[in-house]
Parts: sequence; C-alpha cells; structure tokens
Amino acid sequence: MNLREYFASHGAEDNYQAARREALNRWNEQVRYCCACGGELPLADVEGAEAQRVCGSCGKVHFPRIEPCVIVRIQREGKILLARHVQRNTDIYACIAGFVEAGESAEHALQREIREEIGIEVKNIRYFGSQSWPFPDQLMLAFVADYAGGEIRIQKEELQEVGWFAPDDLPAHPRPGSISYELIHAYE
Ligand SMILES: [Zn+2]
Repeated sequence: MNLREYFASHGAEDNYQAARREALNRWNEQVRYCCACGGELPLADVEGAEAQRVCGSCGKVHFPRIEPCVIVRIQREGKILLARHVQRNTDIYACIAGFVEAGESAEHALQREIREEIGIEVKNIRYFGSQSWPFPDQLMLAFVADYAGGEIRIQKEELQEVGWFAPDDLPAHPRPGSISYELIHAYE
C-alpha cells in the first residue's frame, strides 16, 4: 500500500505518524551535510521524539524542511472551480494550488495564485484545514473562497482547462486520502 492509499484508510493519528516517518526518512536520504559548514550530519532518529539533527562540527541545529502550500475551493452560485493542469495529473481536475512564497501570508499566496493562474478575484477567504503531504515536504493549507469578480483568463503554461462544476456533476478528480478530495466534496 502506498502512502496516499494509507492516508485514505486511516485516522488522523496514524496518518500523522506515517507522514512523519516518510518526511524524516526522506530528510535523512536527501540532506547529508550541514549547510553552514559542510560537515556531515548525523541521521535523524525516525522513531524518536525530536525531529532535529545537530551538526557535529559547528553545532548548528537542523530541522526538516517544510514547504507551505495553499489550496483553495472557489465557489460561485453552488458550483466550484476546478482546473486541469498541463504538466502533472493531466487526466484529472483539481483545485487551484501553489507554494507560499517568501514574505507572503497564506491568504496573499492564495490570491496571487488565483490571479496568476485564472485571472479572477475572490472574497470571504476562510480556513478549511491542513494536511501534511510529504511528497516530498509540503504542508497543504486548504481554504474556501467565494468568487468576487473578473473573467477567467487561463495561464496556458500551467493550465489547459478550467470549469465550474456542480456537486452532482464532478469530473475526474483527486482520490480520497488527500485534502484536495476533502475540499472538493465539502460543499457549503
Ligand atoms: Zn555545521
């Protein structure tokens, strides 16, 4: 069973443990040296309580990298906006999502991504929930927002198609086990 299937069939505490192990194992594999002095880092204790590694040469304390991402369900008159991407998962429709950039709040990142990718404005942004997504190191921050104005203009390098869909007429979309799925199925 892969981790995505595991997430779909387990509860919050099991998923936390699994996501943590996955993240720490990847960290051990991918980060070998101290970024301050180049010294070799000890391996993190994957089963331990502390997710940190202390450089034996300079003493710098390292923590696993976590990259915040925003994902948003945009609603308009009982329908939600879903998009089909150009590069990844090209056979399914998903919510608009993207990385939080340096200096941004989650809300700022969300509004910027929506403007860049589809050219519209949203209002009433509210928090929905979050999920650790260690593929490799994302923390997905999910929000709901209402359409506020503007005409859809697709960023063609990112998206190939965007549409408004009713709850009973959804296209192929992410499977259970992701917050993306939860967002799509939690109509207000
Ligand atoms: Zn060091």
